[in-house]
Amino acid sequence: MKLQLKGHAYRYAAEQIMTVLFPGDRPEFGPVGAADGNSAVMTLSVGPVWATAVTRLRRDGKCAVGRSRALRMDLERDTFSRDRVCQRIVKLSFFKAAVSVTGEFPAWGALTGVRPARLVTQMLERGMSEGAAAAAMSRTYFVAPDRVKLCLSTARASRRAQAALKEDMFSLYVGIPFCPTRCAYCSFVSSSVEKTFGLMEPYLDTLCHEAALMGEAVRELRLRPRTVYIGGGTPTTLSAEQLDRLLAALEGEFDLSALAEFTVEAGRPDTVTEEKLRVLHSHGVTRVSINPQSMEAQVLEAIGRRHSPGQVLHAMELARASGIPHINMDLIAGLPEDTPEGFRRTLDHCLALGPDNLTVHTLALKKGSRVMLEGLSVPGAAEVGEMLDYANRTLSAAGYAPYYLYRQKYMSGSFENVGWSKPGAEGLYNIYIMEELHTILSLGAGGSTKLVDPRTGRIERYYNCKYAKEYLEKTEKFETNRAQFTEFERALLASCGGAERSAKA
Ligand code: SF4
Repeated sequence: MKLQLKGHAYRYAAEQIMTVLFPGDRPEFGPVGAADGNSAVMTLSVGPVWATAVTRLRRDGKCAVGRSRALRMDLERDTFSRDRVCQRIVKLSFFKAAVSVTGEFPAWGALTGVRPARLVTQMLERGMSEGAAAAAMSRTYFVAPDRVKLCLSTARASRRAQAALKEDMFSLYVGIPFCPTRCAYCSFVSSSVEKTFGLMEPYLDTLCHEAALMGEAVRELRLRPRTVYIGGGTPTTLSAEQLDRLLAALEGEFDLSALAEFTVEAGRPDTVTEEKLRVLHSHGVTRVSINPQSMEAQVLEAIGRRHSPGQVLHAMELARASGIPHINMDLIAGLPEDTPEGFRRTLDHCLALGPDNLTVHTLALKKGSRVMLEGLSVPGAAEVGEMLDYANRTLSAAGYAPYYLYRQKYMSGSFENVGWSKPGAEGLYNIYIMEELHTILSLGAGGSTKLVDPRTGRIERYYNCKYAKEYLEKTEKFETNRAQFTEFERALLASCGGAERSAKA
């Protein structure tokens, strides 16, 4: 869609709202002429009393105008206000024009962000009641009532998780970028084991070296991990011996005395064995994630998972017998070859297996994935909406509550990913990372470390090398990362002077 901005340069805001409302489109910025088809002219003007945004939208032969305004004095409250308020009204004007043209109200209204629940958490932190926060979500952003409920439930979980944090806590992520095969919807930086088997052993050596360096920095700062999450990729592509070595290295390098949760993703059921689970249990792993994505054989085949529904059942039996207390299962709504009936069967089947966490993702159409490259046909937004409605109703009725949620770009119907949990079994790491409650230190290829000052919300990031091969070759980066981590955390400790780091200002 062609986009022309007048009176402002909020390109990112324009792109965000456009891609959320028309996920199949890509923005093209430039002057819009009479001969242009799908296009929008987004104008912003600031008068003595009001700032006004107007969007003139042309879409599939229809035209509409959307308007939104804010008091000029709201732009002048503090240094960040102008951009925040102006972007909000620009997006709202586009939203109103889009709704008039399509006649459809998206579930998330005019919200474009990755973390919609954070808005609610922040409102509650400022002392608003849940009712007032819910009303603000509906009135200001046109969020549908069921999505407002999701936000309230996740905001409650976030506040509970936050209350238990101490100033010396952070979370540790360890990435294993190998998978048995590449899934059709994946654009992740993992490599299939067939091609990269030879890299696994050197990767593990380098990872242990990085863990030793960062472990030393963490010990010097007297920090302790609250959660550890080994993800990827598929960590259980490692052999039982390799898992044993990795977990022993982490135990040796980090003080795990404050650990509340230790998760290992065992995403591909065909990589799960009794021996590997025994190793995980013996090292104190408390949570594994077994991810069928679908229990429909033709869907699994279409997405290239190369495992059967029967292998999911077997992996679940092994996981339950292993004594690891918490089991998560991941599903995706909107996969190629799936239907609302197929998704219902999948969800019912998974529920019958009794996981205490169930994460329902919406398919995201990622550039570079086979779904996009080969143009695989996927269910439409209405069908995906039906799948998610069924999940929301059924999981609520079965005693699960939403505890974290996030959205991604290019999701079918612009919906969301939601983690559901039985009471008391919430995956804490997922809350900490999504709500940005404290620092997440990442080790391994593709990892990004997020340094968080919980009192001010200030965040710094640094990134590890993306691919396994590059990660092995550029180990000098570990020292730079370590210096940045140490500097940030040392300053944070000094600034709290022993005060509670977990309380946001
Ligand atoms: S298991 Fe996950 S990381 Fe691996 S290819 Fe599939 S989607 Fe990508």
